[in-house]
Formats: sequence, C-alpha cells, structure tokens
Amino acid sequence: MKGTRILRGGAAGVLAAVLALSAVVATTPAATADDLDDQRAAAERQARQKAAEREQLESTLAETNADLSQAVLDLNTVEGRLPVAQAELAEAEAAHEEAERQAAILAQRLEDAEVEESTVAAQIEDGAGKVDAARAEIAQMAREAARGSGEVSALGLVTGAQSTEEFLANYAVTASAARSQARTLTELQDAEAVARNQEARLAAIRETINQLKEEADANVVAAQQAEDQAAARKAEVERLIAEQQQLKATIEDQRDEALADIEENEKDQQAVEAEIKDLIAKQKTRDAEIAAERARREAAERARREAAQQQSGGNSGGNSGGNSGSSGGNSGGNSGGSSGGGSGGGSSSSRTFLSWPTANHTVISNYGMRLSPTYGVWMLHAGADFRAGLGAPIYAAASGEVDASYCAAGPGCNIRINHGPYQGKNIRTRYLHLASSGRASVGEWVNKGDIIGYSGGTGRITGPHLHFEVYVNGSSTNPVPWLP
Ligand SMILES: [Zn+2]
Repeated sequence: MKGTRILRGGAAGVLAAVLALSAVVATTPAATADDLDDQRAAAERQARQKAAEREQLESTLAETNADLSQAVLDLNTVEGRLPVAQAELAEAEAAHEEAERQAAILAQRLEDAEVEESTVAAQIEDGAGKVDAARAEIAQMAREAARGSGEVSALGLVTGAQSTEEFLANYAVTASAARSQARTLTELQDAEAVARNQEARLAAIRETINQLKEEADANVVAAQQAEDQAAARKAEVERLIAEQQQLKATIEDQRDEALADIEENEKDQQAVEAEIKDLIAKQKTRDAEIAAERARREAAERARREAAQQQSGGNSGGNSGGNSGSSGGNSGGNSGGSSGGGSGGGSSSSRTFLSWPTANHTVISNYGMRLSPTYGVWMLHAGADFRAGLGAPIYAAASGEVDASYCAAGPGCNIRINHGPYQGKNIRTRYLHLASSGRASVGEWVNKGDIIGYSGGTGRITGPHLHFEVYVNGSSTNPVPWLP
C-alpha cells in the first residue's frame, strides 16, 4: 500500500523530479564559467595588443637582418596566439569535465529508474494475484447465488422466514453475506485501480529510461568532442610554448650580431655626415680660393687698365669694360657657405625645393630615434622609408650632381646627390637599397624628377623599399617636411 501513495503523483511526478535534477546539474559549473570568461577576455586583449604592435614591429625591423626579423615577427604571432589557445584549452577541459560529471549523473539516474522499473513490475505482478483472487471470489458468489444456496435474496429472506429468530438469523447471515460481497467488490475495484496506476507508472518510468539513454548517448558524443578538442588545444599550447622558447633563443643568439649591425649603421651614418661636411668645407675653401683668385685677377686687370689709361693720356679707349661680364660664370651651384636668406627645412618654400623620390608617397617608416623592441637599445632611423617594390623607379628629388654611388652591406647600393645651396644651406639627398644596375654614376648631373636608379632590395633589409635621407649642411634631417 505504501507504493500506491507515491504512485498517486504518477508519471508527472517522476518527470518533474528528472527536470529538477537536470536544472541543478546545469547550474553547477557556473562558478568556473566566470573565471573562464575572464581568462578568455584577457587572452583576447593580449592577442589584440600583439596584433597592434605588429605594424610598429614590422617598420622597426625593416632594416635588420631577415632571420632576426622573421624570428621577432614569429614570436609576435606565437605570443598573440598562445593565451587564446590556453583559454580554449581551459574551456575544452571544463566542457570535458562537465560532460563526465553529466555522464555520472545520468548513469546514476538510469540505475535508479531501472530499480524503480523492476519494483513496479513486481508490484504489478503481485497486484495481478489480488485481482484474480477477488474475481474468483466474486464468480464463486455469483454461482452460489444462482444455485440459491447460501446467498439468498432480500425478498426471499423476508417471505421465507418461519420465525422472527429465523428471520433475524437469516438477515444476519444475509447482511454478512452482503457485506462480504460488497467488500469483495470494493477490493476488486481497488485492486484494478491500483493495477491501472501501476501500469501508467511503469510506462512513465520506461519513457524516462529511454530519455535517459538518449541523453547519455548524446553526452558520450559531447564528451568525446570536448576530449578531442582539449587534446588538440593541449598539443597546440605545447607546440606554441616550444616555438616561443626556440624563437627567444634565436633572438638571443642574434643579439651580438644585431647590436653590431646597429652600431655599424650608426657609424655609416656618422661617416656620411662627416664626409659631406668635409666636402662642404673643401668646396668653401675652393670657392674662397676662386673668389680670391678672381679678385686678384680683377685687381690686376684694373691696375693694368689704369696704367694704360695714364700712358695713353687723353686717348679715349674704345673697348673699355669689355671684359667685365665674365665674372661669376664658373662659380657653379656649390658655394655652400654663401649666405642666403632665412631658415631651411620645413618652411613652405622648402616644400617646393624637393619632390617625391618615389611614385608611391606612402611613408612606411618615419625618421627619428627609436627603441629596438627586441634588445632595448636606442637607434636613429636617419631617413624615411617609402614603399617601392623591386624595380620601382627612383627619382632625383631635385637637380644636382651625383657625388656618391656605391654598394655596401648596410645601405646596399646607394646614390647621393649634391643639390648645392638652398636658402644659404647645402642640401644633399641620399637614396638607399637600390638595384646595383641602372644607377646614375658619380659626377653625373641629374635634373629634378629624372630616374636615377631602381628599387633593388639591396643591403640589410627585410624587403625592398626606398630609404631616403636629406642632409642640410651635412646634418641628417627628417625628409618628410621637405616634401610637397
Ligand atoms: Zn630606412
């Protein structure tokens, strides 16, 4: 009878219990989900930061050796991906753990449901005996009533009575028989109701068992996927960490060479400035000598003419002053010391003095001091880098005479042009990383906009581009303010 009371709740009660249990299971891992979200958000921030650093990194690495540059860029990629892979690994592991916990819960629920199934099945079998017994009893009563033995109708009971005692006795028997009959009928009805309830309950339990089995099957698939995913992410994380270590070792191995390269670039740069300043000083000396020589010749000429005039007395000379126009014809454009007007670089007029050295005006790396992201040393990027693919023509930024054209390890094949004075200051431009052939040669006069060579990707660089330098009185300056 204990079972029947629980049974009143029926299949709905069992399902409600199932749902309540799954609700509990679903909310349990929420405690770690926040941590996973935090880890994922931090990883994605780190990845974005690495991606943002990359462009800057590429521009600072444009003039280092290719192996080092590749290692630094690869490290940037690895360190951008690593935290994300680690977050994905943590997520996959959590999903796998969750699926395993779910599997244990489902197995327990299945076991409970199967125990319940066999209990109810036994109860049904037991109940079936009671129904059969009650039916047999009823059938027996019916047969007895039909034969008139024992069971007597109420009418027969009254009319057939011989005495009050007999009537009462008969009545008592009849009432007892009727009660017994009624009780048997009630028992039958109860037993049948119980049997129907138990059948319904058994059906609900079996449906629950089927659902649990389906859920368990789906969970096995999910657990396997999560396990595979976790294994793949774990392998990736391990590979990334190994790569990271290897790249760091490569970068460390290149340190001496890279620092030597930086130092060499600096020395080259200082040598170029010293050479230009020396050339300017020599030019100034030459100009001064020429001017002094001219002054001497003019003074001598004047003295000669005065002497001749005095000799000839009143004779008026027909050709006086015929030579006065010859002065200055050969002074050229190189008198760097001659005082001019106002300030140089950056004024509006200076922007018309130089024109673009490349067809593409994109500056991919600016002039200025920069910190090596890899070794933490400061260095001067003494020019501006312009986009110029292999073979792209390079143009003279102004007219002038080519005063250097050579190839070397750092700057590659390069050209320097002396544009002479501009606003009292000597202006020279320099073009690096050219192709060795097709370059203008030393002593050649070029006009503004003439092709003086082609982008060749030569020197210590990671990819072809034009490194363009401007010197004002032999000091390196930012070329960009000089350009239109
Ligand atoms: Zn450069």
